[in-house]
Amino acid sequence: MWQIRPGLDTLKSYHVPDIAWPVKLDANERAEAPPPAVQAAIAERLAAVAANRYPEIGQHSLKQALANGLRLEPENIVLGNGSSEVLAAICRVFGGPGRKIVQPSPSFSMYPIYCKLADSVPLTVELDAGFALAPEKVLATALKEQAALIILCNPNNPTGGAMAPEAVEYIVAGARCPVVVDEAYGEFSGQSALPLLGKYRNLIVARTFSKAYGLAAARVGYAAGDREIIAAIGKVLLPYNLNAFSLAAAQAAWEMRGEFAPGIAGTVAERERLAIALRELPAVEVFPSATNFLLVRTGRAKALAEYLAARGVGVRDFSAAPSLAGCLRITVGTGAENDALLAATGKFLHGEV
Ligand code: PMP
Repeated sequence: MWQIRPGLDTLKSYHVPDIAWPVKLDANERAEAPPPAVQAAIAERLAAVAANRYPEIGQHSLKQALANGLRLEPENIVLGNGSSEVLAAICRVFGGPGRKIVQPSPSFSMYPIYCKLADSVPLTVELDAGFALAPEKVLATALKEQAALIILCNPNNPTGGAMAPEAVEYIVAGARCPVVVDEAYGEFSGQSALPLLGKYRNLIVARTFSKAYGLAAARVGYAAGDREIIAAIGKVLLPYNLNAFSLAAAQAAWEMRGEFAPGIAGTVAERERLAIALRELPAVEVFPSATNFLLVRTGRAKALAEYLAARGVGVRDFSAAPSLAGCLRITVGTGAENDALLAATGKFLHGEV
């Protein structure tokens, strides 16, 4: 009789409802396709891909383009099928039976799963009541527990807040293990640990094309760090982990990354407009955000999410999680989408329904 690997049978798989919401504010995606000029460049590159050939084995073109932009060498960069793949690989590199991986909670729900898939032990450091993470607590836990890896999510999903660059540096400088800073939303915060890479060999920065670059469908992410660490991550990834179409699309987007600046600024401005308008509604707490989403807490969160869903507005309901009681996560959409969200939320909270 077959038997699933112990531990895997009880592991919950990642689940999000697959609904094509008319107003889709549930997955922190860019609200619109990439800018037309970028789309045209992507279409041109895709047309030139030789579908009968394997992709470039060393993925050198995209690594070189990223390295040029980040003032690094291609050997400092590893590419993944989304930053998810890179983060999971990092857990496999530094984790292992009995090895501890320190991470914030609440944070990206996949971190504990990556840890368990790597047979390692997730050790969570709780955010405070206002959803800020105390760097002293992270470092003290890692040192005391002799952690094998620290994961930071900056800015943090699903809470939205960012740690100051000095706090990140404090952890990296004091840690005796590698620290991976997941900057999936880094473009919206305007800050990054990337400039620290030259100073600390134990720092790894993970980034993605799924959010600010509007390429969630392509599944491209990367990590930058010390070449020895990057080589080790490369060992646990399968060859050809990225298909040639995704590589080509990401390269076109990266080479034209300046085109995304207005969209990023527009999202940040919409986020602030949304936050101000939501704060004016009764009985809503809106947490500070350095991302393309807002975490809000209301008394009747589940009922609000259902009310919005019935009107075609999809948001992410975290209210069943004890640490996120009453919380919904709302991705910043287009101006019109945000207006739709505000109108329906206002009606509901003003008790007009
Ligand atoms: N990190 C964080 C914090 C995220 O929110 C996400 C996506 N939800 C990811 C990593 C993974 O993104 P991707 O695999 O699309 O790069």
